[in-house]
Amino acid sequence: MIEKDPERKEAVLKIAGYNLEWYIYNSSWMVRLVNKLPWPLKSLGKHLANKTAYKLHAGQVVPIEDAIQIAELAHNHVVIPCYCRRLSGDFEKLTCLNFGMVKYLWPKYRPDDRIEEVDKDTAIEMLKEWDEEGYVHAVFWAKLPYVIAICNCERRYCTAMKNRLVYGVENAYKKSHYIAVVDPEICDGCDGSPRCTLRCQFGALQYNPSKKIVEVDPYKCFGCGLCRSACEKGAIKLVDREQFPIRVGW
Ligand code: SF4
Ligand code: SF4
Repeated sequence: MIEKDPERKEAVLKIAGYNLEWYIYNSSWMVRLVNKLPWPLKSLGKHLANKTAYKLHAGQVVPIEDAIQIAELAHNHVVIPCYCRRLSGDFEKLTCLNFGMVKYLWPKYRPDDRIEEVDKDTAIEMLKEWDEEGYVHAVFWAKLPYVIAICNCERRYCTAMKNRLVYGVENAYKKSHYIAVVDPEICDGCDGSPRCTLRCQFGALQYNPSKKIVEVDPYKCFGCGLCRSACEKGAIKLVDREQFPIRVGW
């Protein structure tokens, strides 16, 4: 796929090679700049940012079971540092699970940077550990439909998440195929100290003190599934996003 498409090859080389900082840093300041433009330039800028993100490089949230399926299908699993974390001063964690060509490109273009090869089972165990830690998984492409990585990140670091949530570039970080639903018959609100709300990085869960249960805002829910794994009573499940009215969107 890479050899047949020069545009894809360029995107992969930039992202996994010589221009990663440029890609992350500049995409975020360009998006900030666009937001300061007067309408209709702002609207045009966002349209172009959305188009570029969708086509060239962006991600979609996946719950743990989908992340595992992707890791099972992929080959050449490697973990590298998360550059969004790095730009925020966290240099240590290798939380970016990459596939395919990255294994060859990274040592060539970034010989001073860390990279660890992992087998499939180890990659899946890592995904489960990151899930426990409360990191949101998102599958990233480097020109659709080429899957380059599963990002495992948090709102305080993730550039793509910020580009969507703060600057409104929807295609930078698409919602998953699911929405969380709380069963009011099972949820007891954890006696007023809900465990699930603390896991949601999108502000989609709220405790309702009069009903003594937690409720999901389907418009805000990204379907990451982190609240579900926090609920020991099994009160939360993920349902297909398409079962909801179209306006909850992606
Ligand atoms: S963790 Fe489960 S039981 Fe507790 S508030 Fe959340 S959904 Fe309800
Ligand atoms: S409500 Fe649950 S599934 Fe939805 S975004 Fe929050 S943590 Fe993720």
